[in-house]
Amino acid sequence: MLLDKHNYHTFQPLLYQVSTGGLEPDSIAYPIRKVLKDFPNFFFRLANVEEVDAEKRKLKTNIGDLKFDYLVLATGSETNFFGNKEIEANSMAMKTIPQSLNLRSLILENFEDALLTSDLHERNALMNFVIVGAGPTGVELAGALAEIKKGILPKDYPDLDTRLAQINLIQSSDRILKEMSEKASKKAEDFLEELGVHVWKNVRVMSYDGKTVTTNSDLTFQAATVVWAAGVKGATIKGLDAEDYMVRGNRLLVNEFSQVKGFDYIFAIGDIACMQTEDFPNGYPMMAQPAIQQGAQLGENFIRLIENKPMKPFEYKDKGAMATIGRNKAVVDLKNWKFQGVFAWFVWMFVHLYFLIGFRNRVVVFVNWVYNYIRFDREARLIIRPFKRKSMQ
Ligand SMILES: Cc1cc2nc3c(=O)[nH]c(=O)nc-3n(C[C@H](O)[C@H](O)[C@H](O)COP(=O)(O)OP(=O)(O)OC[C@H]3O[C@@H](n4cnc5c(N)ncnc54)[C@H](O)[C@@H]3O)c2cc1C
Repeated sequence: MLLDKHNYHTFQPLLYQVSTGGLEPDSIAYPIRKVLKDFPNFFFRLANVEEVDAEKRKLKTNIGDLKFDYLVLATGSETNFFGNKEIEANSMAMKTIPQSLNLRSLILENFEDALLTSDLHERNALMNFVIVGAGPTGVELAGALAEIKKGILPKDYPDLDTRLAQINLIQSSDRILKEMSEKASKKAEDFLEELGVHVWKNVRVMSYDGKTVTTNSDLTFQAATVVWAAGVKGATIKGLDAEDYMVRGNRLLVNEFSQVKGFDYIFAIGDIACMQTEDFPNGYPMMAQPAIQQGAQLGENFIRLIENKPMKPFEYKDKGAMATIGRNKAVVDLKNWKFQGVFAWFVWMFVHLYFLIGFRNRVVVFVNWVYNYIRFDREARLIIRPFKRKSMQ
């Protein structure tokens, strides 16, 4: 029995393309029922799991209570605002499709508003984008916004001085893409600067009231759009959040069989799980590969359990990391080979198409990319669902 609060799977690495009008949301989402339709003895229920009663082996959900023999938690992660309620209320997250659509609307609404105002300060703020966090999400979004500024804004808004649009990428440490090699970080920064993105390193954002971003230095930004890409934490569920097995970043401590500490019938995999090893003392990175590999291994282990065989411990195969900055610009770190530029960009595209679920989605995304590449365009720049920040309503 699979429970999910959404009836679709989201391919999160391409969310930034939805936010920037490069792709429609339905090309990066896929119905869960369709993914698993050929498996016998499988059920899906659209349900929000609210609480786990580990002792009674019971789940409380919005569609009623459910009993289980074995439970696997694969709830992923959510944006981590590190307890800053003001930033949470005023900035934009980009973890789900609805959030990406909100961001897309806000970006476009801001340009429409910039056209209307005669106040220069207000106009600048409406065209000032601040992205907090220069991991792959922040870097990819900054690059895409820079390409919009260059290729699309002058055509769409000929009566607006779009040269004033600014993209600021803020990183608290001394290099961007800090999980990747130094070579990849350096090259990605060069690419961003080529595209006109302002990269601020060793700067920590302290507050954002909807108008002004303050930092731990003298630097401040007047901006109508702040995207928070500075961290994620495990999406925990009430009842399974005790201190003795929940570690840094709200992740559940698991052993090499993915069993949550203290339970042999509750498992956790993916972003929510923290499997500490010598090479990864803080658990595997919150990325797709550990999640996919842990899921496959646990599936195999359940069959072994049924057959009364011992479970196999998990072994992570690190397949490397990559990020794209824009057209012909990407960085790829493989175990024995690190490369950047045009070839890296083609590899990035191929890998993302390969992992996208659904043949139709692959075709649609591929055709969109070819079209956008030839035409320098992004045709999904639509305000379908106008967005207004709650704090401003
Ligand atoms: C913008 C962005 C870009 C990324 N780019 C990359 C990348 O380039 N490469 C990479 O390797 N990784 C990337 N990641 C990370 C990667 O997407 C995650 O590591 C991966 O999806 C984790 O898989 P998961 O199965 O643990 O969780 P998820 O894929 O997040 O799935 C969790 C599921 O649980 C459901 N759920 C959560 N709580 C409940 C509940 N209470 N009740 C019912 N259902 C619930 C959710 O609806 C969701 O379907 C990116 C993430 C983001 C947000």
